[in-house]
Amino acid sequence: MLSNPENSRLAIHRKDERKIMWWTVFAIGAIHLAALLALNPAYYSRSGLVLGIVLYYVAGMLGVTLCFHRLLTHRSFQTYKWMEYFLTFCGVLALQSGPMQWVAQHRIHHKEADDEPDPHSPLVTFLWAHIGWLFVSMPDCHAYEDYCRFAKDLDRDPVQRFFDRYFFQIWASFAGLVYLAGELYGGLGMSWLVWGVLVRQVLLWHATWLVNSATHLWGYRNYKTDEESTNNWWVALFAFGEGWHNNHHADQRSAAHGQRWFEIDITYMLIRLMGLTGLAWSINEPSKRIVAKRVDIMVDYDALRVSDEMNNRTASHVLQTQTDPTIPVQVPQMPSAAEAYEAALRAAGEAKEAAAKALQYAAQAIAHKQQGAVEKADHAVKELLERAKDMGMAAVEQAKFAAAQAHEFSSQAGQYAANAKERAAESARQFAEKSRALAQEAVEAATRAADEVSVAFQGIGRPIITSTI
Ligand SMILES: [Zn+2]
Ligand SMILES: [Zn+2]
Repeated sequence: MLSNPENSRLAIHRKDERKIMWWTVFAIGAIHLAALLALNPAYYSRSGLVLGIVLYYVAGMLGVTLCFHRLLTHRSFQTYKWMEYFLTFCGVLALQSGPMQWVAQHRIHHKEADDEPDPHSPLVTFLWAHIGWLFVSMPDCHAYEDYCRFAKDLDRDPVQRFFDRYFFQIWASFAGLVYLAGELYGGLGMSWLVWGVLVRQVLLWHATWLVNSATHLWGYRNYKTDEESTNNWWVALFAFGEGWHNNHHADQRSAAHGQRWFEIDITYMLIRLMGLTGLAWSINEPSKRIVAKRVDIMVDYDALRVSDEMNNRTASHVLQTQTDPTIPVQVPQMPSAAEAYEAALRAAGEAKEAAAKALQYAAQAIAHKQQGAVEKADHAVKELLERAKDMGMAAVEQAKFAAAQAHEFSSQAGQYAANAKERAAESARQFAEKSRALAQEAVEAATRAADEVSVAFQGIGRPIITSTI
């Protein structure tokens, strides 16, 4: 994979800034070697194995997944401060740097996943993402003054700063305590140390590292995110639900990473349990809007994007009604029949113009569609068609809105006419009649455009518009 010139953007290729972190190489290497003591049956004990399994969950699930990742990095739920500190302590037992550095590196990963600043993209190589990146000093990732900028929230908390600074000492003291406790329990100090600390540590490291490597390489994707993240069941199994990594990249604030029935996420179950017992609150559910983009639910990503854009356009109010037909059209009250008539004229004109535009886009779409039938493989044609669809839909909505406005204004004119004195009555009625006729025309034009557009787009995704005037 290194031969791919695209990868030169990634962090490993900043050779001038590359510096080997010898202390990390030594620590990780030594712990791997020491874990080999487990091959000696003399160090095996059932209590040591149980302790290893328990601490695997404590450090890995409570510490890394639940605390470092979902609580500290993404704040996907809230809990008490004392609980946060306890969980952070559990995370420190996983020996994966201090909480601030962990959070900062992970936020950098999310910011530019699989692009240059991403510290651990497997697009470099699998080994780089899995372990190699830990051994190399990279911009923003290793010096406190650099990474604290990405974890300002934690930097304000002296307890978190303490954990961040002394994580290794805390880990080593804990290992010493495990040894002592084992000795006191029945001369099992070495057994507890080997299984409860060393073997557990090595297995947990690799499970965590697989989230960085495997879940950007192998698995399926629920979402078309702009990096290569995947959902991978076997990583989810070893890493407490973290394997549903594509879901997580799509919706980072969600406390749940698993979304489909088979995407089991035990960390989320634990968060829910904490919620039930009052230990967690404000638990973020997957965003409905994001879930709507899941490929197994619907593929009409462009329609959603257009409707998003329309929702965002508040200034003109022109398109605001399109996503929710139950909201009535807000039309200002005109001070006189003549002005209402003028406004109705203008709105009707706009409606007709937008309707004409919609028809034009529909015609374009039909032309592209015919062309597409000849050369089906042409991706560009499909894109053009999609674009025409978006614009056609938008124009129809504009037409509908303007037509509705025209209708409103003409009825205002009618009101004035009804209230007018006898002398003015006749001419005002004429105004009203005329504007009503214009509005009717606009409504018809918009309806025609809507029909044309839906014919043109039959079979290409679901329409975003279901409203009629
Ligand atoms: Zn990722
Ligand atoms: Zn994350």
